[in-house]
Amino acid sequence: MHIGVPTEIKNHEYRVGLAPTSVRELAHHGHRISVQAGAGAGIGVSDDDYRAAGAEILPDAGAVFAAAEMIVKVKEPQPAECAMLRPGQLLFTYLHLAPDPVQTKGLVESGAIAIAYETVTDPNGGLPLLAPMSEVAGRMAPQAGAHCLEKAAGGRGVLLAGVPGVTAGRVLVIGGGVAGTNAARVAVGMGAEVTILERNVARIRQLDDYFNGRVRVLYSTVDSLERLVVSADLVIGAVLVPGAAAPKLVTRQMLKTMPDGAVVVDIAIDQGGCMETSRPTTHAEPTYIEEGIVHYCVANMPGAVARTSTFALNNATLPFVLALADKGWRRALAEDRHLRNGLNVHSGRVTYKAVSDALGLPF
Ligand code: NAD
Repeated sequence: MHIGVPTEIKNHEYRVGLAPTSVRELAHHGHRISVQAGAGAGIGVSDDDYRAAGAEILPDAGAVFAAAEMIVKVKEPQPAECAMLRPGQLLFTYLHLAPDPVQTKGLVESGAIAIAYETVTDPNGGLPLLAPMSEVAGRMAPQAGAHCLEKAAGGRGVLLAGVPGVTAGRVLVIGGGVAGTNAARVAVGMGAEVTILERNVARIRQLDDYFNGRVRVLYSTVDSLERLVVSADLVIGAVLVPGAAAPKLVTRQMLKTMPDGAVVVDIAIDQGGCMETSRPTTHAEPTYIEEGIVHYCVANMPGAVARTSTFALNNATLPFVLALADKGWRRALAEDRHLRNGLNVHSGRVTYKAVSDALGLPF
């Protein structure tokens, strides 16, 4: 199959759909790969690196879209990219169509077959192509929070690790899923005193076992939340209720009980955020202060570590890219119901129920 990798054009997006290691693997399977010139520049990967892996370099996105049977990207196609898709062409990338009628219309009108990373499933009910980005965001959260706790950033001047003779900072992680567990792991590694609030009892058992006493894992209720928020230096929001907006667990009233200069990092901001006072921010201006609390609410945290994120994403996407390229999309989807769950748009129709419901389109 002829596979195309355009340069990402969304604001401050440096990740790439295929890393050179993935290109080499695909080339090894006999596929032809065209990469847009400069696609890897933002993550320190040159055109020569791609050539060495077996890709050909094309000068612009138009040439890549025109040549390829399958486009592999990272972010949802922008209007200019939707316009370059053609009927029957395969698109494999993050789409997040439910809140995006403009992109959905563009994809429907293109006649392309669009498979979304975020709705591909695994046998355990997980979302394997979302998980690596939750791992990245989770591990970044204590790092971002620690920086925000410094006076110059508006914080209360607490070092998470403490020092001999002075207590460590207190970190409260709400939600012990992929992002929350990774956040707790890094916070513990930094020397902080960490508590996770989780509401799934089976998950609480797993976390208790995993952290083996290094983290307190408690059942999440309004009561436990209220009690813990008061004394936290850093609260990390990492809840997810699949398919729904994040519940507003930390109210403005609770926030007022926290000490001035404490910090909240709301990872769940991409689902609306789990703090009443959260609103999305960007890497250019990641924080704001409300009720005396520093809020870090960046909706695309992994973009800041684009190099790590590209390789993490590729580890997860490569088996699916290979299946699509080796078998063709019809057979690949017929043989794998988890990949089939990724199909969002097919030849002029939305084929994912939650998206058609959200946008009021026929299914
Ligand atoms: P996950 O499903 O692995 O974990 C979510 C956890 O929250 C589950 O264990 C669930 O039981 C728990 N939960 C739900 N309601 C709760 C409650 N009331 N109290 C305590 N726990 C509760 O999800 P994830 O992959 O870890 O993702 C978490 C969030 O991070 C999602 O909103 C995701 O979209 C977001 N995310 C954001 C970024 C970013 O850049 N901001 C990047 C990746 C993921």
